[in-house]
Amino acid sequence: MKFYKRSQTRKINVGNVVIGGGSAIAIQSMTNTNTRDWKSTVKQIKQLEEVGCEIVRVSLADMESAYNVNKIKKNIKIPLVADIHFDYTIALEAIKRGIDKVRINPGNIGSKDKVEILVKEVKKAHIPIRIGVNAGSLKEVRKFHDNTSRAKALTSAAMEHVRILEKHDFFDIVVSLKASNIDTTIQAYKIFASKRNYPLHLGITESGTISSGTVKSSAGLGIMLYDGIGDTIRVSLTADPVEEVKVAYSLLQSLEIRSSGIEIISCPTCSRTQVDLIKIVSDMEKKLATIKGLRKFSNPIKVAMMGCVVNGPGEAKEADFGIAGGKDIGILFKNGEIIGKVKPDNWVPKLVSMIKDRLK
Ligand code: SF4
Repeated sequence: MKFYKRSQTRKINVGNVVIGGGSAIAIQSMTNTNTRDWKSTVKQIKQLEEVGCEIVRVSLADMESAYNVNKIKKNIKIPLVADIHFDYTIALEAIKRGIDKVRINPGNIGSKDKVEILVKEVKKAHIPIRIGVNAGSLKEVRKFHDNTSRAKALTSAAMEHVRILEKHDFFDIVVSLKASNIDTTIQAYKIFASKRNYPLHLGITESGTISSGTVKSSAGLGIMLYDGIGDTIRVSLTADPVEEVKVAYSLLQSLEIRSSGIEIISCPTCSRTQVDLIKIVSDMEKKLATIKGLRKFSNPIKVAMMGCVVNGPGEAKEADFGIAGGKDIGILFKNGEIIGKVKPDNWVPKLVSMIKDRLK
């Protein structure tokens, strides 16, 4: 990307994934199963792995959930992060059972000696800590009514936790400063990035449903990413977490930061459209989600699916593969050349077989 320049952050290992220091921006999500039910949790993590999730977080609300960490770990491939509040003994249990990272706030985990014990165990296990401050849970933030004061308060809260860890000579830290307001969030991340070089986990918290949450997260994260801020992202949606990962890939791909392997270029349709393009493209998306190995392409395969010959041939020629619709037919393009005609019900199978050939 022309203007994109990443902030230089510290490199942190989370299991086999590297965050920061210029590594690829890692995509994360969080399960919404009950972690006490480890089988359902594993099932959901496998679904997340299928769509390319690279780090997954589970909430450990009690000791029973922490006892499941090793069972979950044994059955998944991606690094597992424990979300822990208040009870440091749950974190100790999760560390004992092989967790790859803990998300805590040292400030709510108890007295100094408890933090000391925790840091000692985290150091021994060589795992990082994410300090995740959320505007909604901090009265020091809520007491202010303007975005700048709230952002400053959010950053101060994060810095307070950071200093506790630094005092214990612990520096494998990832930080997030989330608010549901975009302006507050961006200001907070910017202030923090000017103070420390720890890798940043980006997110707009409680951003809403698939539709509104996607727009809000993309607006907020997009601005920060374009400014070079951010080492790992979670798009929070009130939806199946699988959707969070799909949106995260689309967002990074639209900014040309990372590729999800495929980019579909399709027109909005109009009165000239003579095929059911909306259904065809939606079928195509569903089919693409089942193809393994697409993400190996660092430059996405561009597939144009256009309604008519006004803009269709131009876009189809620019793409790797493309179809420009006509009356109950489509003109098929490959690498800019016309190679044939396809009936509407054959658009998806034809394009999918061309993509699969490219994968060989
Ligand atoms: S490509 Fe053709 S069908 Fe699609 S919106 Fe443009 S003019 Fe309409």
